[in-house]
Amino acid sequence: MPVAQGVVAVKWGAAFAPLVDLVYPPRCPACGEGLAAQEGLCATCWAELAIPGEPCCATCQRPFGPGLTDGMLCAHCLAEPPLHDGIAAATLYNEASRKLVLSFKHGRRIALASMLARMIGARLPDLDGPWLIVPVPLHRWRLWRRGFNQSALLARELGRLRSQPVLIDGLQRHKPTRMLGGLGKAARARALAGAIAVNPRAAGRIAGADVVLVDDVITSGATSDACVRALRKAGARRVRIACFARVLDEAR
Ligand SMILES: [Zn+2]
Ligand SMILES: [Zn+2]
Repeated sequence: MPVAQGVVAVKWGAAFAPLVDLVYPPRCPACGEGLAAQEGLCATCWAELAIPGEPCCATCQRPFGPGLTDGMLCAHCLAEPPLHDGIAAATLYNEASRKLVLSFKHGRRIALASMLARMIGARLPDLDGPWLIVPVPLHRWRLWRRGFNQSALLARELGRLRSQPVLIDGLQRHKPTRMLGGLGKAARARALAGAIAVNPRAAGRIAGADVVLVDDVITSGATSDACVRALRKAGARRVRIACFARVLDEAR
């Protein structure tokens, strides 16, 4: 009888909860240090995360060093105005955020999604009206191997936190792209050409919409640029990028 089974399952779960805590005591998802509470990071890892501060570039939110003030543009945006309307990054990529992302992605710590999304949400400016939350897509082979799209998990949590509509399959990746690390700018663009497009079934919702594009890590920006290009082609009005970790000053 399904109903009776359900009742038994709930009782067993409650009975074993303290035991599970003893067998699997909560650990910091970045370094593995034991924790008093079930959620969050240890104090050391919190302290090591680099939160991008102000002043920062008026266009892309790249944090400035001394001598530059809010309202100015960074050298990258001056040299080549970006396609997007800003990047909200929870952290700057460093050893601590790298470990956290790896734990999230490969350790299958799906539970980390809500914590990372809260940190991203804290950096995302007020959204005027509805913004569609759209994740950077994974190719179906990689999705099949990993079992989940980490950006889609973040997008879903971010949408819930900010009460915004989420369009999980707004973008599609038509061809698997190998790792872009180590490739020059032109080679990255070639590898991504035609790889990402708007899902035809979602085109009607994207036309004229404001979009928050969600990714776990923004490295060179080549993948997010390909997504922004596809969204703009489909008629998106404004596209902001929201990520957990942003790599700055990588070789371009
Ligand atoms: Zn830690
Ligand atoms: Zn900039």
